[in-house]
Amino acid sequence: MAIWVICEGQSDGFRRGTLELVAQARRVAPDGDEVVAVAVGADAARADALAGRAHRILKVEGGHLEPFSADPWVEALAPLLEEAAPSLVLWGEGQRAREVVPRLAARLGWHAVMNGLALERRDGRLRLLRPVCGGKAYQWLSADGAPLLAAFRPNSFDPEAPADLETAVEARQVSPAPARVEVLERTEDTGQRVDLTEAQVVVSGGRGLRSPENLKLLEELADALGGAVGVSRAVVDAGWADHSIQVGKSGKTVSPALYIAAGISGAVHHTMGMDTAKVVVAINTDPNAPIFRYADYGIVGDALQVLPALTRAIRELRA
Ligand code: FAD
Repeated sequence: MAIWVICEGQSDGFRRGTLELVAQARRVAPDGDEVVAVAVGADAARADALAGRAHRILKVEGGHLEPFSADPWVEALAPLLEEAAPSLVLWGEGQRAREVVPRLAARLGWHAVMNGLALERRDGRLRLLRPVCGGKAYQWLSADGAPLLAAFRPNSFDPEAPADLETAVEARQVSPAPARVEVLERTEDTGQRVDLTEAQVVVSGGRGLRSPENLKLLEELADALGGAVGVSRAVVDAGWADHSIQVGKSGKTVSPALYIAAGISGAVHHTMGMDTAKVVVAINTDPNAPIFRYADYGIVGDALQVLPALTRAIRELRA
């Protein structure tokens, strides 16, 4: 049997979520099981960087795989998966996984689980943890009868693993039909130095920040902490910030070590996108704001005063 990891690259190598999954696949794979790093389209060209981390690198190359569109990827991957029948296929949670995993599961008749948080082997069986009921409860799942396709949130596993395997490299040519969707324009996700979905620290702001000019208070604190900026949907709907940095059900899912929520009420649609942050700090003028139910540390106060004070304190500590 094998565990496949669909690997996603970026300009300087592979995304943290990919490295986490390759490392975790090795930790949970039984002896003799193969960990296969699968690189599709443009990622195939950089896949050699994964040598030593997986038993095999599978480069999937061919026409219509770039720019990314779900249908050609499904057409390319489905026959390869059917032929190899790995017991588990892992993918970092994100737009590509959200579009491709359910389609592949439907096509192959396999199981699919999104939003995974933990993966372990217990009593010889693989099981994974995911949030349910909008993050109010957690559920351990095992799959029987058919292989499992699973997408995991970044920052769920340690990405460090020795690059000590002898890695075989295989290339497969595919020829999927052209995408039915035409990509008219591509823009970079954000201008942030740190990728929001993979950031260890996220400083988010909501309508309580009162005006778009005050979003710079988030940026200053995020810079001091080496983190990324997020916002609530109310901020995006008001036109103060781009949707690419919205956290929540209809935005990005983040899982940082530290999440600071300033002037955010804590509606379930927002908390669904950040409820697995390890430590949550909430700043809100209303002591009854729902966000305090998720907070490890709560500051009842005006975010316009608290944020600069925190930034000053962090800068002093760092100096
Ligand atoms: P508000 O609810 O208006 O809260 C503002 C908060 O700021 C209040 O708690 C207030 O006490 C506090 N405040 C005011 N002044 C200050 C101050 N000076 N200092 C400190 N605190 C202050 N929302 C998301 O965020 N992400 C999503 O992805 C998302 N998806 C959705 C999907 C659907 C289908 C639906 C229906 C809704 C979705 N929403 C989403 C919207 C969500 O339900 C809330 O409306 C939204 O999160 C509210 O944003 P907010 O907390 O910034 O604003």
